[in-house]
Amino acid sequence: MHKNFKNIDKVVFGRGSFAMLDEIIAPIRKENNKYFVFVVDNYFKGKDFVSRIPLKPEDVILFEDVDTHEPTTEQIDNLRDKILSEKGLPSGVIGIGGGSIMDIAKAVSLMLTNEGSSTLYQGLNLIKKPGVYHLGIPTISGTGAECSSTAVLTGPIKKLGLKCEWTVFNQVILDPELIASVSDEWWFNTGMDTYIHCIESENGTLNNTFSHAYAEQALSLCRDVFLNERSGRSAENDDKLMVASLMGGLSLSYSEVGVCHALSYGLSKILDYRHCYANCVAFQHLDDIYTKGVKEFKQMIEKHKIQLPKNLSEDWSDETITKMAEVAYKLPHMCHQAFGENWKNTVNLEYIKALYKRL
Ligand code: NAD
Ligand code: ZN
Repeated sequence: MHKNFKNIDKVVFGRGSFAMLDEIIAPIRKENNKYFVFVVDNYFKGKDFVSRIPLKPEDVILFEDVDTHEPTTEQIDNLRDKILSEKGLPSGVIGIGGGSIMDIAKAVSLMLTNEGSSTLYQGLNLIKKPGVYHLGIPTISGTGAECSSTAVLTGPIKKLGLKCEWTVFNQVILDPELIASVSDEWWFNTGMDTYIHCIESENGTLNNTFSHAYAEQALSLCRDVFLNERSGRSAENDDKLMVASLMGGLSLSYSEVGVCHALSYGLSKILDYRHCYANCVAFQHLDDIYTKGVKEFKQMIEKHKIQLPKNLSEDWSDETITKMAEVAYKLPHMCHQAFGENWKNTVNLEYIKALYKRL
């Protein structure tokens, strides 16, 4: 089956490109109730950066704390209700932050025009109407959320995205200056999300020339950032990581993630592990499935003196492991990608439980 996927309408890349925001959104300001909602990572509250956001008196700025939990359906519903009850339909929603804020901005944009709870729309093509204009400005790189057609939300039943063409941003501003302040720990974990996206994209049945071309380039950029002689934190490497994140995401739009992400979703849903950290925790144990990728990942870990926990499963009950395995098993597209259409010959609940027991 050939995918006919939606790309971001417009992208600007470059140091200082954040300054173009005002000019970019000016023509959209005439839409709906003529104001913008800015959803900004709480990290920036009180920082000088806020004075650079081109706020007009009618605009609304919402600082969201992404440290306590990943975006939830309840959070999105509350934000939507608050925005609509206070000022009606905005011209657009601007997200400034990491993958969590990208997903909040995308989801709020959709839920402003779709009735009921966002839990109703977790899945593929369940959204009924296009949302309002939405623009993403990543401040940490790796998840590829800036280009994906999903807004991942944790709900009472499932951790699943609002996935459709209308989820994709109308505009993205990629300004590598904005990621310089990310802590070393998040820089590594979120950067590794891109690396793992590409390894899973490459080592899967859906990989093709299109997804391979993006993954190959993104992997090369990741090696410059995390492994090669000039690796580490620098302006040059921030430029590279920002482009790698986008390209890793674009590779996935024609391919798929695999086993590591399936395990990661279970860790996030049942034990509240953060997405990128959960991937790192799981990936180190998958050397039989992604042999070369895990070997290189371990070299990067060593180079940057990252400590990942081991023997975690010793403290997990069989019930916890079963619950996580059930979450992972309900992601058949990821197992299909890794093991092919006959994936059920290899993967069952016991197989996934055994993978969790490696952690
Ligand atoms: P994040 O948005 O959760 O932020 C991680 C931390 O970095 C937070 O403490 C945040 O405050 C901080 N931070 C962000 N920018 C900063 C900056 N410039 N300086 C200092 N600190 C900064 O991180 P993430 O790893 O980018 O996103 C993870 C989320 O992305 C998860 O919720 C996951 O489900 C989602 N995700 C979505 C997709 C998608 O396609 N939609 C793909 C992968 C992951
Ligand atoms: Zn990921």
